[in-house]
Amino acid sequence: MYARKFSKKVMLLAAIATLIVVAGILWLNTQKNTTTALTALTSGQLEFESDPTSSAILSGFTAKSVVNGSKANYDLVLKMNEKSEFTAKAKVTATNVSKDSWDKLVFYVIPNVFAEPNNKMFRDDAKFAIQAIKIADKQVKYTMQDDTLTVPLQSKLSPQENLTIEISYSFQVPRDGRRYMRIEDSHYLAQWYPMLATYMNGWNKNPYNYNNESYHTGFGDYKLQYELPAGYTLVSSANNDPKEATTSGQVEIKNVKEMFVAVLKDMKVMTRKVGDVDIRVWSRDKDKIPAATALDTAAAALPFFSKNIGPYPYKQYDVLVDGVVSMEYPGIDTVYGKDQFTSLYTTHELAHQWFYGMVSNDPFKESWLDEGFTQYTTSLYLRNYEYANRYILPEPKLSNLPLSELGDMDYASSLYALPTLKFKELFEPLGIEDRWKFLRTYFEIYRYKQVTTEEAVRFIKHYFKMQDDTFFKDWLKLD
Ligand SMILES: [Zn+2]
Repeated sequence: MYARKFSKKVMLLAAIATLIVVAGILWLNTQKNTTTALTALTSGQLEFESDPTSSAILSGFTAKSVVNGSKANYDLVLKMNEKSEFTAKAKVTATNVSKDSWDKLVFYVIPNVFAEPNNKMFRDDAKFAIQAIKIADKQVKYTMQDDTLTVPLQSKLSPQENLTIEISYSFQVPRDGRRYMRIEDSHYLAQWYPMLATYMNGWNKNPYNYNNESYHTGFGDYKLQYELPAGYTLVSSANNDPKEATTSGQVEIKNVKEMFVAVLKDMKVMTRKVGDVDIRVWSRDKDKIPAATALDTAAAALPFFSKNIGPYPYKQYDVLVDGVVSMEYPGIDTVYGKDQFTSLYTTHELAHQWFYGMVSNDPFKESWLDEGFTQYTTSLYLRNYEYANRYILPEPKLSNLPLSELGDMDYASSLYALPTLKFKELFEPLGIEDRWKFLRTYFEIYRYKQVTTEEAVRFIKHYFKMQDDTFFKDWLKLD
């Protein structure tokens, strides 16, 4: 996501002061990167070869990723009526891949925080209700509090066993729900279904956070069957979304951390094929200028990242340009299209497809691992550190504090800016190619794995042959 937490006045002054310079640099770099990207595409494919020199750097180093003890695959049914009321059924097959026996299942149900009258996120146009939860065709009891759904199990689920749970529910999307929201007749369904929590020495479920990503999920396979009124287009994380409005269909995607869905009306699409990937940018007519910028940005950056970090893994990459906060989801991003930073947002959210989408971390506990790597990648690509320089606080808090220990002003500073500036300092002596090589090497060994601060530090120390923790002391809390 993009943290934008500052007063409008500061924002305006900063914007005016930097606009001309930034625009110039962005333009120059877009030109430069486009050339590089086109060179990468001579065969018409997004090619990526393992870097042989990476293995030399990594000799004697074994990645130790965190194992998530829960695994879930999702079979989802979504129906919307003319009044924008949704009914849904989520069949979740949960597998216990931990060493413990489970006596319950724990899910994130984020739409509920907006519909629960006692919650500070309550919106009076939001609705959420569970009609029934069934296991093996029998209704079961559950508890729901804020965004936590707990389902006690009648008989324990042993290691390596799985069960299928069926949750039937209905909901209505608020106009102001941060990522989960409605603008005019378009519906942005972020985290709209019960998402099984990760299991790491017990269920790992933290409270909802409005500004940041407080949810952490494992990789799973998704199938979605949908029915919509005439005139709506479904755009999602899936690989096979339709291009036109359809009233029903089925889409799917495998091995992703979540499945975002948007149900759009009166939005047009601009497309460009880059290698095997269809880039599709959706917007209203009034946003066609930022949408064109997003398309140009993505069409240059996607093949560049594919070549220099690792292959983009999906057949479609969708960008939704609207008034919704910039945010990353597998195979699809939203980009805030109402200011002059479209190119910056698009690059940042696209970079998350690698750092979040494929290299996983717990964003409640250690958000710097995806935001920091993503923002550094963005700055390196755009050759522009303006964002980090602007949002770093004079005395920033440590970067790997959980969201619960950071205040509103700390997010951009500690999670995005500080790691970016630290990486910049660390990589200063290296040439540009070697900076990308670091990111590529890190990505290659942690792809589809979960990293922690401890592991990232171990990797960086090995990579740079550091003898001690001096480099990390003033910005990471190390045990
Ligand atoms: Zn982000």
